[in-house]
Amino acid sequence: MNGSRTMEPAAYLDSLRPAGSKRSSKRDLIVNVFLRQEGHLTADDLVELIRREEAARSDPATTTPGMSRATVYRTLQWMVDAGIARKVDFGEGRFRFEHSYRHPRHFHLICKSCNRSFEFLSSDIESLLEEVAAARNFTARQSVLQIHGTCESCRTGRTSTIEGSATELVFARDALRIAIATERSGLEFYSRAASIARDSRGRRVFERLAAEEQEHLAMLERRYRDLLQQDPQLESRPTFLFFKGAANGLFAAAADRLANGVDDRQALMIGIKCERGSYRFFKRYGEKFEDSEGKRIFLEFADEERAHLELLIREYRSLVERQRRRRVRRVTKRRPRRQSVALS
Ligand SMILES: [Zn+2]
Ligand SMILES: [Zn+2]
Repeated sequence: MNGSRTMEPAAYLDSLRPAGSKRSSKRDLIVNVFLRQEGHLTADDLVELIRREEAARSDPATTTPGMSRATVYRTLQWMVDAGIARKVDFGEGRFRFEHSYRHPRHFHLICKSCNRSFEFLSSDIESLLEEVAAARNFTARQSVLQIHGTCESCRTGRTSTIEGSATELVFARDALRIAIATERSGLEFYSRAASIARDSRGRRVFERLAAEEQEHLAMLERRYRDLLQQDPQLESRPTFLFFKGAANGLFAAAADRLANGVDDRQALMIGIKCERGSYRFFKRYGEKFEDSEGKRIFLEFADEERAHLELLIREYRSLVERQRRRRVRRVTKRRPRRQSVALS
């Protein structure tokens, strides 16, 4: 299932290797085997996997002695230093390793019965951690969050049928779900704003934005369906990315504000605040991830939000200008005499 689409380690490795440094076939073998694994391996797990791979490859007539434990350990440390691997400590008295290639940083749920771990991420927890660090003037390098306990299958005795997922696909799925939810609430906001706008040009802007949101929404939904083609069980896999409201909460709250009655200028201003919040959120959040489909989804979405933001700001300025001119015309009509005196 973790086919070539998820892993293109050769090119990735070449990009990491400093120019002119020599290839080591042993190191390449270790890194390649490691990158093919999903999950959290101990160094000994990796030694075992490498030896199996060597046995499968070697010609029995010229069998060479197996890879030494020390070589694997050294290479693991090299991978950690190079940013290919992350070292995790689940409190078992030994480290485990997971690859970071197209695998966003995350938190873990750890089952004490079966020793398996499950990954998740939460933008709310992350922003809270950043807030705490900032309040204490602390430069955060790494935050570790682990939930220890008993997993569902250990608790119920039911074995889950949906395991061994490629995090990259689940991450992309969740990123798309979030983008879709945000797009939907944006559409709701602009449709409502168009229906209440009094200024005809302002109305056209909202209608245009609503139409754009509709189009983007259809595109995101198509992309979502394409993604599901890659893994028939993808829809039912557990949530990886937890977002409480995040950006789509902005638009939902804004649509409520419209219902209380606002003028065109206020409606545009509310739209600007939403798009700015949404753009900043997706841009900032997307930039933090390792290269992955999920990252691309966030950054592309941020670009769309920025385009909307720019359009709204232009419209806001032009509406203010139109209103100013209208006021000036009214004033000149009302006081023709004074005006003519001033002119002469
Ligand atoms: Zn368990
Ligand atoms: Zn992990």
